[in-house]
Amino acid sequence: MSRTAIVGGGAVGLASAHYLAESGHEVSIFEESGVASGASYGNAGTFAPYACIPVNNPSVFANLHRYLLSPRSPFRLRMQQLPRMLPWIGRFLQHSTAARSHQTSVELARLLGLANAAYAGIIGRAGADLIAPQECLYLYSSSRAFDAAARDMALRRQLGIPVEILDEAGIRALEPNLSPRFHKGALFTGSWFFRSPYRFLTTLAERLTQSGVEMVRASVQEVRPQEGGVDLVLTDGRSVRFDHVVIAAGAKSRHFALQCGDKVPLDTERGYHLTFPAGAGLLSRPCGWAERGFYMTPMADGLRVAGTVELGGFSPALRTSLLSLLSSSARDAVHGLGGPTTEWLGFRPTLPDGLPVLDRAAASPRVIYAFGHQHLGLTLAGITGQIVASFVNDTPQPISLAPFAANRFASHAA
Ligand SMILES: Cc1cc2nc3c(=O)[nH]c(=O)nc-3n(C[C@H](O)[C@H](O)[C@H](O)COP(=O)(O)OP(=O)(O)OC[C@H]3O[C@@H](n4cnc5c(N)ncnc54)[C@H](O)[C@@H]3O)c2cc1C
Repeated sequence: MSRTAIVGGGAVGLASAHYLAESGHEVSIFEESGVASGASYGNAGTFAPYACIPVNNPSVFANLHRYLLSPRSPFRLRMQQLPRMLPWIGRFLQHSTAARSHQTSVELARLLGLANAAYAGIIGRAGADLIAPQECLYLYSSSRAFDAAARDMALRRQLGIPVEILDEAGIRALEPNLSPRFHKGALFTGSWFFRSPYRFLTTLAERLTQSGVEMVRASVQEVRPQEGGVDLVLTDGRSVRFDHVVIAAGAKSRHFALQCGDKVPLDTERGYHLTFPAGAGLLSRPCGWAERGFYMTPMADGLRVAGTVELGGFSPALRTSLLSLLSSSARDAVHGLGGPTTEWLGFRPTLPDGLPVLDRAAASPRVIYAFGHQHLGLTLAGITGQIVASFVNDTPQPISLAPFAANRFASHAA
């Protein structure tokens, strides 16, 4: 048995705690702002094993001018952040070529293929009350958009991900309250969703605490590998020694990796959500409007409209034009939504190749990295937790982790 600390109490940190506790380790989670208060709080709640097509795909080249200039684009750049983000954006574009993007899809599909089974024990611990079985539906309002998605659908099938194409009548039979503008849909068999990611994760945290996992409300300043252990230095000056430390601090993991010998180009894709309480009951499943870059998910407290990508660092300032785009797009998709009552901004942890880092640190095999899950951290939390436990237990990993190595960017400046 080892004493293991986890930095970060989001979906990834909590799932790691679940698997480490299952293996009999003594686990402490260090979380500075409250369990599931980061990206894990306000996401779209989809368990999305179909989502192997990364944002960095060849379509970004054709759309680049729109991302920079159009107020209708769901993908935006904060111009003041452009100089800081240029190296990251350069790498993102390098990984958007057809060949690189294909490789990312293959690697993501391998992880995603293990994601469902890896959630079973976690749902067993947290309870299934907030899990809903309805599959996700992607919607297309123009034949141009549907035709443009044909290659992605073919790749999904090739990678063993089932997709059922629906016509207008098929969409209407499932979701009668959707606008008639949608003539084609794609239903992803095997997907499901969380009716409140926050409540699911806080329940998981409570159950973990009851079984002996320690929750520490503290901000970690430094992770310091030592001979025979790892010290966590907290911002209040305390230092605590552990046998292993897991870095699961989401988008804020980069400087911890640097302290442990790895320069990783982790940055953030900002994303937003709005909640429409009057939208409760209008949809039965997550519906994603592909061209507009967002999901509408029927959550416990109303319809959550979540998505968009904004490259622009960690400023807490909300981009009102993106919130307005989400709001007007949701009203175009479903009638009778009323007004939104909550607005939320979250920070997806993203590397420029669209893959997470799942590895041991260069400076010490006792430090384990589990971050960078971009749009898929809720979905991949379970399998990531299993992988983290295999590192600590020193048992074979379920798949080769070479594509998720921390040093995969080492030949370029990070
Ligand atoms: C709009 C939007 C929609 C999304 N939709 C989906 C979806 O439908 N399905 C899906 O699978 N994924 C989705 N995602 C992505 C998903 O939410 C993230 O990938 C996931 O939440 C990342 O989890 P995490 O645990 O790595 O990070 P986080 O949830 O951000 O957790 C990291 C934690 O670390 C803590 N922390 C950071 N620094 C320190 C420190 N120094 N000391 C102590 N604690 C620290 C933070 O407070 C935070 O709680 C979406 C994201 C967004 C923004």
